[in-house]
Amino acid sequence: MNRVTLIDHPLIKHKLTIMRKKQTPSPHFRALLREISLLMGYEVTRHLPLENEEIETPITTMSAPKLSGRRMCIFSILRAGEGLAQGLLDLIPAARVGHVGLYRDPKDLHAVEYYFKAPPHLEDRFCLVVDPMLATGNSAIAALNRIKNAGAKNITFLCLLAAPEGIKALGEAHPDVHIYTAAIDEKLNEKSYIVPGLGDAGDRIFGTL
Ligand code: URA
Repeated sequence: MNRVTLIDHPLIKHKLTIMRKKQTPSPHFRALLREISLLMGYEVTRHLPLENEEIETPITTMSAPKLSGRRMCIFSILRAGEGLAQGLLDLIPAARVGHVGLYRDPKDLHAVEYYFKAPPHLEDRFCLVVDPMLATGNSAIAALNRIKNAGAKNITFLCLLAAPEGIKALGEAHPDVHIYTAAIDEKLNEKSYIVPGLGDAGDRIFGTL
């Protein structure tokens, strides 16, 4: 089973409560998601490796830490992943960005790929795959299959809300992938929405309700 980290911070909890409310409008919802992505990004990047560089301050020289290795890659699972990816990119402007386009087949809810684009040398990068909602896990599993096929080895999955069913499915399919989430909700309903959840994240981000 993979590791699951619940990022348990009062600011995140407070912002998430506002996002859950059905009357919260899209611009506010989007802004809160961006703010949460900065807070979660801080935690998810805690283990990035550093190396020292000789620099000159206005006062003296020193050996100072900087990120080492190839630039990390943020993978956005379209379209709701964009809501998390944009904030993370503000936090880590040098990151590369990959996209995985998937939609849920309305008949069997399985993920169907319609777009994939990734930077080169994935095998040397820390890959952070983002989607606000880990529901059935089908999209996340399909995205991770595709990203691994493209060469990625060091992968973390970041979501805002997770259902126990999605955590279990993702853990079985990709036990090596560490999951970070801001909350683990109760269950999925018969339409595979997270309960209590926040509704359709893509619709709420982009105002397509
Ligand atoms: N995707 C969403 O946007 N919301 C859910 O509750 C489940 C999947």
